[in-house]
Amino acid sequence: MHLSGGALPRPAETRIMVVANQKGGVGKTTTTVNLAASLALHGARVLVIDLDPQGNASTALGIDHHAEVPSIYDVLVESKPLSDVVQPVRDVEGLFCAPATIDLAGAEIELVSVVARESRLQRAISAYEQPLDYVLIDCPPSLGLLTVNALVAGAEVVIPIQCEYYALEGLGQLLRNVELVRGHLNPRLHVSTILLTMYDGRTRLASQVAEEVRTHFGSEVLRTNIPRSVRISEAPSYGQTVLTYDPGSSGSLSYLEAAREIALRGAIPQQEQHSPEGTQ
Ligand code: ATP
Ligand code: MG
Repeated sequence: MHLSGGALPRPAETRIMVVANQKGGVGKTTTTVNLAASLALHGARVLVIDLDPQGNASTALGIDHHAEVPSIYDVLVESKPLSDVVQPVRDVEGLFCAPATIDLAGAEIELVSVVARESRLQRAISAYEQPLDYVLIDCPPSLGLLTVNALVAGAEVVIPIQCEYYALEGLGQLLRNVELVRGHLNPRLHVSTILLTMYDGRTRLASQVAEEVRTHFGSEVLRTNIPRSVRISEAPSYGQTVLTYDPGSSGSLSYLEAAREIALRGAIPQQEQHSPEGTQ
């Protein structure tokens, strides 16, 4: 089966990408797992860190994450090494996952009293000794301590934007948080990638939103849009990414193309960020 479309250049050093948007249901998890699988199918070694207590990324990758499974909670709160919780993903060589269990729901509060509470994840990733090309972190739909840990650990922020009305609302707050973390805790952090998700080319609204996002953000926006696709939404119920569930589908091909763009862009140099007008 010809899935990968050929190997892609591997980054000179590990690219740590934070998939964030505090708005719920915009495609963060779908983007995380499908980009990760696409990059792995192109020959990269990729780790997905599930940082959402809902554990959706773990489910989508077919990774067991019932309450007793060693998870990212143990890493953040109990200082367990990341290597103790990482599991290989079935069906996709080179793809790994640090699962989230429901315990993580308490971490936002438990971390408050922990030393260096914002940099727990960053320390854990730095101490991880296996070679990796990419780390993709799936954030919860909030800007709390879990997301801050991801922003401190990462260098690149990937923002999925759903092509719907109000798409840009609240983005200003996310961008300000990125600026705060960059200013105080992590100078490397920048928004590298914006991806339009659930794009329905038949509606005028989707193309208007897409145009607006491209006007505000410019070069960070990937040329590839992810179409609204039933196959993409079905795949998680089989514990699979769309890449293995239906390799030839439009959803699968669009994530492969988005991954190709990301890989070819390499590590984009830090750029000046700008707040989209009309957002708070
Ligand atoms: P949360 O904020 O709850 O973590 P999220 O931002 O991670 O949500 P997803 O879980 O990835 O969003 O997607 C929300 C819903 O939309 C899911 O049911 C998912 O299957 C569906 N979905 C995501 N992308 C697409 C797509 N391109 N086409 C169709 N359905 C999609
Ligand atoms: Mg999610």
